[in-house]
Amino acid sequence: MATFSLFSMATHAALPQDSRRAGGIAVIEVSPTTKSATLDDQPVALVADNNKNYAVVGIPITATTGTHTLKTDQGNFDFNVADYAYPEQRLTIKDQSKVTPDPDELARYHREAVEQNTIYQSFTTPQGNSFPSFVLPAHARFSSPFGFKRFFNNEPRAPHAGLDIAAAFGTVAHAPASGVVVQTGDYFFNGQTVMIDHGQGIISMLCHLSRIDVKIGQTVAQGDAIGLVGKTGRATGPHLHWSISMNNARVDPLLVIPASEKPN
Ligand SMILES: [Zn+2]
Repeated sequence: MATFSLFSMATHAALPQDSRRAGGIAVIEVSPTTKSATLDDQPVALVADNNKNYAVVGIPITATTGTHTLKTDQGNFDFNVADYAYPEQRLTIKDQSKVTPDPDELARYHREAVEQNTIYQSFTTPQGNSFPSFVLPAHARFSSPFGFKRFFNNEPRAPHAGLDIAAAFGTVAHAPASGVVVQTGDYFFNGQTVMIDHGQGIISMLCHLSRIDVKIGQTVAQGDAIGLVGKTGRATGPHLHWSISMNNARVDPLLVIPASEKPN
Protein backbone atom coordinates (compact mmCIF):
# COMPACT_ATOMS: atom_id res chain seq x y z
CA MET A 1 0.00 0.00 0.00
CA ALA A 2 1.35 3.38 -0.98
CA THR A 3 2.12 5.74 1.82
CA PHE A 4 1.29 9.38 1.41
CA SER A 5 4.31 11.61 1.51
CA LEU A 6 3.69 15.30 1.80
CA PHE A 7 7.02 16.68 0.77
CA SER A 8 8.49 13.97 -1.41
CA MET A 9 7.87 16.04 -4.52
CA ALA A 10 10.14 18.87 -5.48
CA THR A 11 8.65 22.15 -4.39
CA HIS A 12 8.88 23.47 -7.95
CA ALA A 13 5.49 22.93 -9.51
CA ALA A 14 5.77 21.84 -13.11
CA LEU A 15 3.37 23.00 -15.76
CA PRO A 16 0.56 20.57 -16.51
CA GLN A 17 0.85 18.27 -19.50
CA ASP A 18 -0.23 19.90 -22.76
CA SER A 19 -2.92 17.74 -24.38
CA ARG A 20 -5.18 19.58 -26.81
CA ARG A 21 -8.35 17.50 -26.81
CA ALA A 22 -11.79 17.86 -25.30
CA GLY A 23 -11.20 17.49 -21.55
CA GLY A 24 -7.53 18.31 -22.04
CA ILE A 25 -5.29 21.31 -21.40
CA ALA A 26 -3.54 23.76 -23.74
CA VAL A 27 -0.42 25.35 -22.25
CA ILE A 28 0.17 28.45 -24.38
CA GLU A 29 3.15 30.76 -24.00
CA VAL A 30 2.03 34.38 -23.75
CA SER A 31 3.84 37.69 -23.51
CA PRO A 32 5.24 38.52 -20.03
CA THR A 33 3.10 41.66 -19.95
CA THR A 34 -0.15 39.70 -20.35
CA LYS A 35 -2.59 40.67 -17.62
CA SER A 36 -5.71 38.72 -18.60
CA ALA A 37 -6.80 35.86 -20.81
CA THR A 38 -10.15 34.24 -21.57
CA LEU A 39 -11.58 31.22 -23.37
CA ASP A 40 -15.27 31.49 -24.25
CA ASP A 41 -15.49 34.50 -21.88
CA GLN A 42 -14.18 32.48 -18.91
CA PRO A 43 -11.00 33.92 -17.32
CA VAL A 44 -7.98 31.66 -17.81
CA ALA A 45 -5.08 31.08 -15.37
CA LEU A 46 -1.78 32.82 -16.17
CA VAL A 47 1.36 31.28 -14.65
CA ALA A 48 5.12 31.71 -14.81
CA ASP A 49 7.59 28.87 -15.30
CA ASN A 50 11.34 29.16 -15.93
CA ASN A 51 11.03 32.88 -16.64
CA LYS A 52 8.35 32.37 -19.28
CA ASN A 53 4.65 33.11 -19.00
CA TYR A 54 1.86 30.78 -19.95
CA ALA A 55 -1.89 30.62 -20.15
CA VAL A 56 -3.08 27.26 -18.81
CA VAL A 57 -6.32 26.66 -20.70
CA GLY A 58 -8.85 24.03 -19.68
CA ILE A 59 -10.58 22.62 -22.77
CA PRO A 60 -14.23 21.76 -22.06
CA ILE A 61 -15.14 18.11 -22.55
CA THR A 62 -17.90 19.35 -24.86
CA ALA A 63 -15.40 21.29 -27.03
CA THR A 64 -15.60 20.62 -30.76
CA THR A 65 -12.49 19.52 -32.65
CA GLY A 66 -10.79 22.24 -34.66
CA THR A 67 -9.66 25.79 -33.99
CA HIS A 68 -10.37 27.56 -30.70
CA THR A 69 -9.15 31.02 -29.70
CA LEU A 70 -7.55 32.14 -26.46
CA LYS A 71 -8.12 35.88 -26.11
CA THR A 72 -5.64 37.98 -24.14
CA ASP A 73 -5.13 41.69 -23.56
CA GLN A 74 -1.97 41.29 -25.68
CA GLY A 75 -3.57 39.52 -28.63
CA ASN A 76 -5.27 36.28 -29.57
CA PHE A 77 -3.86 32.77 -29.88
CA ASP A 78 -5.51 30.12 -32.03
CA PHE A 79 -5.01 26.50 -31.03
CA ASN A 80 -6.27 23.23 -32.42
CA VAL A 81 -8.37 20.75 -30.44
CA ALA A 82 -7.71 17.25 -31.79
CA ASP A 83 -10.15 14.38 -32.00
CA TYR A 84 -9.88 11.96 -29.06
CA ALA A 85 -11.89 8.78 -28.52
CA TYR A 86 -12.73 8.23 -24.87
CA PRO A 87 -13.87 4.71 -24.04
CA GLU A 88 -17.43 3.83 -23.12
CA GLN A 89 -18.58 2.42 -19.80
CA ARG A 90 -21.89 0.74 -19.03
CA LEU A 91 -23.03 0.56 -15.43
CA THR A 92 -26.00 -1.09 -13.79
CA ILE A 93 -27.46 0.93 -10.92
CA LYS A 94 -29.91 -1.05 -8.79
CA ASP A 95 -31.53 2.03 -7.26
CA GLN A 96 -33.49 3.21 -10.31
CA SER A 97 -34.29 6.49 -8.50
CA LYS A 98 -30.60 7.43 -8.89
CA VAL A 99 -30.82 6.79 -12.65
CA THR A 100 -34.09 8.57 -13.31
CA PRO A 101 -34.59 11.02 -10.45
CA ASP A 102 -38.17 11.91 -9.55
CA PRO A 103 -39.23 15.57 -10.01
CA ASP A 104 -38.25 16.59 -6.46
CA GLU A 105 -34.88 14.95 -6.86
CA LEU A 106 -34.42 16.55 -10.27
CA ALA A 107 -35.14 19.97 -8.80
CA ARG A 108 -32.62 19.27 -6.06
CA TYR A 109 -30.06 18.13 -8.62
CA HIS A 110 -30.52 21.32 -10.69
CA ARG A 111 -30.13 23.52 -7.59
CA GLU A 112 -26.95 21.68 -6.69
CA ALA A 113 -25.60 21.88 -10.25
CA VAL A 114 -26.13 25.66 -10.24
CA GLU A 115 -24.36 25.91 -6.86
CA GLN A 116 -21.38 23.91 -8.10
CA ASN A 117 -21.21 25.74 -11.45
CA THR A 118 -21.18 29.10 -9.69
CA ILE A 119 -18.03 27.97 -7.90
CA TYR A 120 -16.49 26.54 -11.06
CA GLN A 121 -17.04 29.91 -12.76
CA SER A 122 -15.38 31.87 -9.95
CA PHE A 123 -11.91 33.32 -10.38
CA THR A 124 -10.03 34.32 -7.23
CA THR A 125 -6.64 35.98 -6.98
CA PRO A 126 -3.67 33.71 -7.57
CA GLN A 127 -2.00 32.28 -4.50
CA GLY A 128 1.31 32.23 -6.36
CA ASN A 129 2.40 32.89 -9.87
CA SER A 130 3.38 29.32 -10.69
CA PHE A 131 1.02 26.49 -11.57
CA PRO A 132 -0.07 24.74 -8.34
CA SER A 133 1.68 21.50 -7.44
CA PHE A 134 -0.76 18.54 -7.52
CA VAL A 135 -0.64 15.03 -6.08
CA LEU A 136 -3.30 12.34 -6.02
CA PRO A 137 -5.83 12.84 -3.18
CA ALA A 138 -5.63 9.10 -2.42
CA HIS A 139 -3.56 6.20 -3.68
CA ALA A 140 -5.42 3.15 -4.97
CA ARG A 141 -6.43 1.56 -8.26
CA PHE A 142 -8.14 3.91 -10.72
CA SER A 143 -11.60 2.43 -11.15
CA SER A 144 -12.97 4.88 -13.71
CA PRO A 145 -10.79 7.22 -15.74
CA PHE A 146 -11.73 10.70 -16.82
CA GLY A 147 -13.80 11.01 -19.98
CA PHE A 148 -15.63 7.70 -19.95
CA LYS A 149 -18.88 7.95 -21.84
CA ARG A 150 -21.17 6.39 -19.32
CA PHE A 151 -24.46 4.60 -19.70
CA PHE A 152 -26.51 3.90 -16.58
CA ASN A 153 -28.88 1.04 -17.21
CA ASN A 154 -28.33 1.74 -20.93
CA GLU A 155 -29.31 5.41 -20.60
CA PRO A 156 -26.56 7.76 -21.85
CA ARG A 157 -25.13 10.24 -19.36
CA ALA A 158 -22.62 13.07 -19.54
CA PRO A 159 -19.01 11.88 -19.85
CA HIS A 160 -17.26 11.13 -16.57
CA ALA A 161 -15.86 14.51 -15.51
CA GLY A 162 -13.29 13.21 -13.04
CA LEU A 163 -11.06 10.37 -11.96
CA ASP A 164 -12.36 7.60 -9.67
CA ILE A 165 -9.84 6.22 -7.19
CA ALA A 166 -11.01 2.96 -5.60
CA ALA A 167 -9.68 3.67 -2.11
CA ALA A 168 -11.21 1.64 0.71
CA PHE A 169 -14.06 2.99 2.86
CA GLY A 170 -12.60 5.20 5.59
CA THR A 171 -9.31 5.95 3.79
CA VAL A 172 -8.14 9.50 4.39
CA ALA A 173 -8.76 11.82 1.42
CA HIS A 174 -6.08 14.50 1.04
CA ALA A 175 -6.08 17.94 -0.52
CA PRO A 176 -4.42 17.40 -3.93
CA ALA A 177 -2.99 20.93 -3.83
CA SER A 178 -3.04 23.86 -1.45
CA GLY A 179 -6.03 26.15 -1.53
CA VAL A 180 -9.15 27.34 0.23
CA VAL A 181 -12.22 25.19 0.91
CA VAL A 182 -15.01 27.00 -0.97
CA GLN A 183 -17.84 24.49 -0.63
CA THR A 184 -18.88 21.49 1.39
CA GLY A 185 -22.19 19.76 0.88
CA ASP A 186 -24.15 16.55 0.60
CA TYR A 187 -25.26 16.30 -3.01
CA PHE A 188 -27.72 13.98 -4.71
CA PHE A 189 -25.24 12.55 -7.22
CA ASN A 190 -21.90 13.50 -5.69
CA GLY A 191 -22.68 12.69 -2.07
CA GLN A 192 -20.62 14.37 0.62
CA THR A 193 -18.41 16.73 -1.32
CA VAL A 194 -15.56 19.19 -0.74
CA MET A 195 -14.55 21.85 -3.28
CA ILE A 196 -11.11 23.46 -3.00
CA ASP A 197 -10.15 26.68 -4.81
CA HIS A 198 -6.48 26.60 -5.87
CA GLY A 199 -6.64 30.13 -7.30
CA GLN A 200 -7.24 31.56 -10.79
CA GLY A 201 -10.27 29.38 -11.49
CA ILE A 202 -8.40 26.12 -10.79
CA ILE A 203 -10.80 24.17 -8.56
CA SER A 204 -10.88 20.60 -7.24
CA MET A 205 -14.00 18.67 -6.27
CA LEU A 206 -13.78 15.53 -4.10
CA CYS A 207 -16.92 13.42 -3.86
CA HIS A 208 -18.69 10.46 -2.18
CA LEU A 209 -16.96 11.10 1.17
CA SER A 210 -18.21 9.29 4.27
CA ARG A 211 -17.04 12.18 6.44
CA ILE A 212 -15.99 15.78 5.83
CA ASP A 213 -13.29 17.19 8.10
CA VAL A 214 -12.94 20.73 6.71
CA LYS A 215 -15.09 23.84 6.76
CA ILE A 216 -15.88 26.47 4.15
CA GLY A 217 -13.25 29.22 4.27
CA GLN A 218 -10.56 26.95 5.68
CA THR A 219 -7.11 27.13 4.11
CA VAL A 220 -5.63 23.72 3.32
CA ALA A 221 -2.08 22.73 2.40
CA GLN A 222 -1.34 20.00 -0.09
CA GLY A 223 -1.76 16.65 1.65
CA ASP A 224 -4.01 17.90 4.46
CA ALA A 225 -6.80 15.48 5.39
CA ILE A 226 -10.13 16.80 4.10
CA GLY A 227 -12.30 13.81 5.01
CA LEU A 228 -12.73 10.08 4.62
CA VAL A 229 -13.49 8.05 1.50
CA GLY A 230 -17.04 6.68 1.33
CA LYS A 231 -19.84 5.87 -1.08
CA THR A 232 -22.35 8.65 -0.45
CA GLY A 233 -24.45 9.87 -3.39
CA ARG A 234 -24.49 7.90 -6.61
CA ALA A 235 -21.74 5.37 -6.06
CA THR A 236 -21.69 1.62 -6.65
CA GLY A 237 -18.99 1.19 -4.02
CA PRO A 238 -16.53 3.17 -1.91
CA HIS A 239 -14.29 5.39 -4.02
CA LEU A 240 -12.97 8.92 -4.24
CA HIS A 241 -14.08 10.95 -7.25
CA TRP A 242 -11.72 13.83 -8.04
CA SER A 243 -12.62 16.49 -10.57
CA ILE A 244 -10.27 19.29 -11.51
CA SER A 245 -11.63 22.35 -13.29
CA MET A 246 -9.90 25.26 -15.04
CA ASN A 247 -11.78 28.20 -16.56
CA ASN A 248 -14.97 26.21 -15.85
CA ALA A 249 -13.73 23.26 -17.93
CA ARG A 250 -13.40 19.90 -16.20
CA VAL A 251 -10.12 18.38 -17.38
CA ASP A 252 -8.31 15.06 -17.04
CA PRO A 253 -6.68 15.01 -13.55
CA LEU A 254 -3.84 12.84 -14.93
CA LEU A 255 -2.62 15.92 -16.83
CA VAL A 256 -1.87 17.85 -13.62
CA ILE A 257 -0.17 15.20 -11.48
CA PRO A 258 3.54 14.42 -11.82
CA ALA A 259 4.62 11.31 -13.72
CA SER A 260 5.72 9.69 -10.45
CA GLU A 261 2.08 9.67 -9.29
CA LYS A 262 0.79 7.89 -12.38
CA PRO A 263 0.33 4.13 -12.68
CA ASN A 264 2.46 2.33 -15.29
ZN1 LIG B 1 -16.46 9.54 -10.61
